[in-house]
Amino acid sequence: MNSTSTLRHPRVRFAPSPTGFLHVGSARTFIFNWLYARHNGGTMILRLDDTDVERNTDASVQSIFEGLKWLNLGWDEEYKQSERGALHRQMAEAILQKGLAYRDFTPAHTGDSEKSGAQGTWLFNPGMRELSREESDRRAAAGEPFALRFRVPRGAGQAVRFNDGVYGEQAKQADDIEDFALLRSDGNPTYHLASCADDADLAISHIIRGQDHLNNTFKHVLIFEAAGFKPPQFAHLPLLVAPDGTKLSKRRHGPVVSVTTYRDAGFLPQAFINFLCLLGWSPKNDREQMSRDELVQVFSLEGINRANAVVNFKDVGTTTAATPDDIFDPKALWLNAETIRTLPIDDLCSRLLPIVRGAGFTMTPAKMLQITPLVRERIRLLREVLTVADFFFVDQLAPYDPAELVPQKGDAAMARRALERAKEVLSTTEFKHDPLDHSLRAAAQELGIKAGQMFQPIRVAVCGRKNAPPLFETLEVLGKETTLARIDQALPKLA
Ligand code: GLU
Repeated sequence: MNSTSTLRHPRVRFAPSPTGFLHVGSARTFIFNWLYARHNGGTMILRLDDTDVERNTDASVQSIFEGLKWLNLGWDEEYKQSERGALHRQMAEAILQKGLAYRDFTPAHTGDSEKSGAQGTWLFNPGMRELSREESDRRAAAGEPFALRFRVPRGAGQAVRFNDGVYGEQAKQADDIEDFALLRSDGNPTYHLASCADDADLAISHIIRGQDHLNNTFKHVLIFEAAGFKPPQFAHLPLLVAPDGTKLSKRRHGPVVSVTTYRDAGFLPQAFINFLCLLGWSPKNDREQMSRDELVQVFSLEGINRANAVVNFKDVGTTTAATPDDIFDPKALWLNAETIRTLPIDDLCSRLLPIVRGAGFTMTPAKMLQITPLVRERIRLLREVLTVADFFFVDQLAPYDPAELVPQKGDAAMARRALERAKEVLSTTEFKHDPLDHSLRAAAQELGIKAGQMFQPIRVAVCGRKNAPPLFETLEVLGKETTLARIDQALPKLA
């Protein structure tokens, strides 16, 4: 750690490369950085690592911002690496001037003959490392293209070391590290150079990123030290893997790896954040469901595990017919259902309304506000409102099995009598909970049947199925006209 002040006010960054959609693993990296910053009163920085012009796409930039906007955590400073090329080149120049980098005029290297490292790995192009400064300067001045390579210390048995906040002491023999490029032969900075130059310039105190970068960190330590900076504190995060242990990837695992899949299915950002936090981090308080403030309060790097974190889903490949139970971790669904139940009704209502309207139904805010409490306990995902409460939205119920109308320990004739009596009673009842309750119970008594035997045919007639929200509230929202019309449509089915 650099100093007491960075300890107290850490500066962290999330540095996505815009070469694809926002991956759930990247979202978790963002969240852990954000929590670290907020827990320690530090600064959260978003830096777009957009120097790879061939692989960057605008669609990816958009997907990253859309995903982050949905998480709604925010950040304090924002940078674009592509606008900072001069700074990157300055660092390269400084390292070159110190003799810690050299120009390689034959940057393309292929073939086994050049393998020379301890592990048989390629280390450098023979002849280039030893070029005299004069010759190197002369060829560069003559316009000969070159890559700038880091002069990794050789032969001294020297190790490159750092202490990772999660994986502990790390060491790698310098002789096993190739003379990696700082500048490509087209003059553009590599990821290693650009990343370190920016991290140094932005005074990043802690680099918290995926474990897949652990091996790059040896190179980064070399760069920081060569340029005269103390390396930041590193903490690498365990990878997210599928149940079969393979790294989560879009090609293999389909939409389950994209943040927008969760958003579009109706996850609440808070539940999604909560779920991601539990992948690779064990909170000290052993609690699973936590609010944003609680997460900020208890977050610490010490609780991060080294083992890969398994996202549980059925390996559905890239099929599009997958159901929520196929593609989402049961814990994610549980957390979302729990979080939905904690939302105030008007908040939940304002999230459901656009989904219902987006599916093509006409819906007023007032009616949606009546429906919301009836579905709150019955949905795990916001979008499930469309299946759980469909009968509130449609003009015509989808066909249902008439046998559903027949009550337990009853027959079609009993169902008919119940519905006919309900029609009469309901036409003169006020459509409010208590009067409905009162008159339908009284009707059951008159017919000499159980209340449940009265209610079931009505419920199926108006909802199209037995499993539905409480009856009187449902009737109240549907209103007299729709209720009577649906009973009319049910009666002939019992003929
Ligand atoms: N742009 C790199 C990535 O997306 C950033 C890695 C880092 O945090 O240094 O993987």
